[in-house]
Amino acid sequence: MAGLKLADITMKYGSLVALNNISFECHEGEFFTLFGPSGAGKTTTLELVAGIKKPTKGEIFIGERRVNDLTPDRRDVAMVFENYALYPHFTVYENVAFPLTSSRRKEKLTPSQKRERVDEITTLLGIHELLDRKPQQLSGGQKQRVSLARAMVRRPEAYLLDEPIAHLDAQLKVSARSTLKQFAHQRGTTILYVTHNYREALGLSDRILALRKGNIEQIGTPEEIYESPASDFVARLMGDPPINLVDVEIVSENGKVFFQADRDFRFPMRQGLLPKLEGISWEEDGKRVVRIGVRPKHVRVSLQKLSDASFQLPVYVAVREAEGNTITFELTNSFFLAKVDSSVHPEVGENVWVEIDQDNLYLFRKSVELTK
Ligand code: ATP
Repeated sequence: MAGLKLADITMKYGSLVALNNISFECHEGEFFTLFGPSGAGKTTTLELVAGIKKPTKGEIFIGERRVNDLTPDRRDVAMVFENYALYPHFTVYENVAFPLTSSRRKEKLTPSQKRERVDEITTLLGIHELLDRKPQQLSGGQKQRVSLARAMVRRPEAYLLDEPIAHLDAQLKVSARSTLKQFAHQRGTTILYVTHNYREALGLSDRILALRKGNIEQIGTPEEIYESPASDFVARLMGDPPINLVDVEIVSENGKVFFQADRDFRFPMRQGLLPKLEGISWEEDGKRVVRIGVRPKHVRVSLQKLSDASFQLPVYVAVREAEGNTITFELTNSFFLAKVDSSVHPEVGENVWVEIDQDNLYLFRKSVELTK
């Protein structure tokens, strides 16, 4: 087992810069997740570590070894892709055992040791009873677990997992997630993991790297990334429904400071936030503006006035859901959502009182475009 280090890596495809001079370290035994939207450069990063692609610039280390000039099979990492390419004529057993038979392998295993390894990993992944089947006799979720098993049957320096459970249905995903977590814990192994699913990123990782168009936006523990997002971009990636982002004018009136977006979206700023506005707010059409972020679960909605900081808005959409209701309000440049408990179910068009929990209010610079 070994840590991974990327130093000043740039990757260009023609004129497109897929990775822009990024550096990071995934420590030995760490579950490290590359997280970001489509096209951020996550898969490219894994491919560079695996040796499938060569960086335009920069160095890659696996443990102490500089691996830039090593072919993939000499790097001793195992990679699982989202598209599970299994050998169709092999049984599940033969597919999973395949990586143990390579002549270049540093560990030479006896047939019974091989059998033990396959038994162990397929039991862990809940596919032990499928060992005699061929891939075409498997469901999508089973195929994905076989492909995971095939990658994990070896004991490489590190595992590179690219959306390995993306194809699973919701229930299987939950169990595969705990399996992965258990696997990482039991083996204490180094895992570089790619996902664009924030629940997976938060639930599995020791640390998360948020990638944005080939640039590192933030590196931190799940708690740091969720509780203290470095930007509106990171904040918006974490949550479903996503965090509300609203550009508000900072208005001073009679010694009080208000945040105001539309005519009705207006509330007095909590004391203590003022110093934080320094350096974050900007000037727009002669107004001082800041971007606020508030998660839908931190917005209260009521038919009665809640406090002097509450304000009234008409309901645009109200959707009943299994775990509470989602109320949507329409602002000029964005929608604003509240996640409330199921006892709150106002009618469309009804004027309700809205209150923002300012202990959970974020202030951001503008770095993503708001769209409706
Ligand atoms: P996804 O979540 O969709 O897999 P990603 O974060 O893994 O996205 P990459 O696949 O690494 O992103 O792609 C990063 C950028 O590089 C994208 O703009 C992509 O279109 C581009 N790209 C990737 N592979 C190639 C290639 N072989 N040739 C040209 N451009 C490529």
